[in-house]
Amino acid sequence: MSKQSDVLATDFLVKIAEEFGTPVYIYHAEKIKTQYEKLQKAFHKSDTRFFYACKALTNINILKYINSLGCGLDTVSIQEVQLGLKAGFDPKNIIFTPNCVDLQEIIAAKDLGVIINIDNISILEQFGNQFGDSYPISIRLNPHIMAGGNFKISTGHVDSKFGISIHQMRHIERIVKSTKLKVTGLHMHTGSEIKDVDVFLRGVEIMFEMAANFPDLQSIDLGSGFKVAYQLGDPETDIDLLGKKLTEAFNKFCTKNERPLQLWFEPGKFLVSQCGYFVVKANVIKQTTATVFVGVNSGFNHLIRPMFYDAFHLIRNISNPKGTERIYTVVGNICETDTFGWDRKINEVREGDFLVFYNAGAYGFEMSSNFNSRLKPAEVLVKDGKPQLIRRRDVLEDLLKNQIELA
Ligand SMILES: *Cc1c(COP(=O)(O)O)cnc(C)c1O
Repeated sequence: MSKQSDVLATDFLVKIAEEFGTPVYIYHAEKIKTQYEKLQKAFHKSDTRFFYACKALTNINILKYINSLGCGLDTVSIQEVQLGLKAGFDPKNIIFTPNCVDLQEIIAAKDLGVIINIDNISILEQFGNQFGDSYPISIRLNPHIMAGGNFKISTGHVDSKFGISIHQMRHIERIVKSTKLKVTGLHMHTGSEIKDVDVFLRGVEIMFEMAANFPDLQSIDLGSGFKVAYQLGDPETDIDLLGKKLTEAFNKFCTKNERPLQLWFEPGKFLVSQCGYFVVKANVIKQTTATVFVGVNSGFNHLIRPMFYDAFHLIRNISNPKGTERIYTVVGNICETDTFGWDRKINEVREGDFLVFYNAGAYGFEMSSNFNSRLKPAEVLVKDGKPQLIRRRDVLEDLLKNQIELA
């Protein structure tokens, strides 16, 4: 976890929960800035750029804030590109890294003028045939590095659907040559939650080898996978060490080969995970023969990471921070098993207390749904110490607004 000054105080969270109701996602703008500055500092000795992978959290106010920091944007759908443009990002600062989209979506991104990563041979060939050297592109490679916290979030392994295998380099070369495609970037993204710095170093070495095939190259994009701590003592990617080692390797490569390349990254979780707090209310304390459950007014319809990725989120009782610690299993209110945390030591929970989930900024609200016809939570942004509503809570009409009721 971060040091105390980085964290919103629990009594402040209680006040926000009282004012805006629960469940509520709360984001702390300045924490995003702190994280961005950590990255900049770690890589200040190389020509490095960062593009926020916005699938982690796309509220327009978050996008605008991140744009104001001077960070770029990494997108995975044409809609994310459109949101980015609406938030004010220059198309030249937007990367489009889709997977399994059709040529039409790629062309739509091209028409908006963004940087495009192509991740399969078929589209590469079609794009090359249609546009030749008139629109430079990047290629997403699969370096076949098995990394990341969980198979579901690992994208570089041999069975992964992502990227073009480095073993298909000859095929790529033939297409590039025959269609005159201008390849200005190479990209890889091997997964989320990589704590081992050497994985990135292995990745960049492979990219260096591949770079020899592309004379127009301007950038090497190592994607993301920076791990953040979800609880005290959790291993994190050592960003300073990563910056130091990668800068060394990168600058050496550029000097030796007289190629002034840029190094790019696409952090999602690293920028927004810790800025987020998800506050819920304890509806019921339910003692069974085996367990004491806290049933809260939320579920995996609002925060799916614990059920989907076995993710750990630290849970605290912010209404009774000095209460005696007891063991609870925290569950949601939807009709399916939706356990947020098993056997957690939490200050005594009384019905009506507010609980907070930490590290709820990334893939929290963004993966929420209306399952059980429940309403999506509100979102609040705290900036300069001031909480402001940035999404109102769903109302019943939101559940019906796209439905067509037949006569
Ligand atoms: C999801 C994704 C990221 C961000 O991953 P994090 O683990 O959230 O940092 C970066 N690049 C691409 C292409 C992605 O799909």
